[in-house]
Amino acid sequence: MNCLEERILKDGVVKEGNVLKVDSFLNHCMDVKLFDEMGAEYAKRFAGKKINKILTIEASGIGIASIVARHFGDVPVVFAKKSQSINLDGEMLTAEVESFTHKNINHVIVSKRFLGPEDHVLIIDDFLANGCALQGLIQICSQAGATVEGIGIAIEKGFQHGGQMIRNLGYQLESLAIVESMDAATGKITFREQA
Ligand code: 5GP
Repeated sequence: MNCLEERILKDGVVKEGNVLKVDSFLNHCMDVKLFDEMGAEYAKRFAGKKINKILTIEASGIGIASIVARHFGDVPVVFAKKSQSINLDGEMLTAEVESFTHKNINHVIVSKRFLGPEDHVLIIDDFLANGCALQGLIQICSQAGATVEGIGIAIEKGFQHGGQMIRNLGYQLESLAIVESMDAATGKITFREQA
């Protein structure tokens, strides 16, 4: 069992609707030492890949991606924004993403100035459920002409179809914890064995 799995068992809370609450260490209050250990693990799993940029999506991916970047030679971290703002100008790369937690559609946006054909990208996010967020980020990379070298996820919910779909597309997808099952009534969580 790895440190993220241990932490999920200790502090994760299973909610109704297939939602795992991990806000005490991952996506509200952030345990940066844990993120640092996660970064070291991604560095092992993506060793040999020439990664010059990390792409994530606001808000929960930003903290993790920033610490992970320290393990990839301090490469820049670009995050997709979920709404148009007055600070966004120039040409944009955009994709539509359905939010698993909020059940709405977001237009995610990255400025063309920060992602282009010269980029070899590691995509990082906190959760993988149905894969909508990842599909949006992959679409943005493809519009930019950038190469997706790999995808690093903290928690994949293996009983939802996103992981299978992304692996079927041929991407190297590394999830540090894959939840095989979870039960809101008992609070029991089981993980998929990883080599
Ligand atoms: P997907 O697009 O793969 O369906 O969902 C991924 C996004 O939804 C993640 O970026 C994450 O913010 C959110 N998400 C999905 N499942 C969960 C969950 O069980 N718990 C929490 N806290 N967020 C989730």
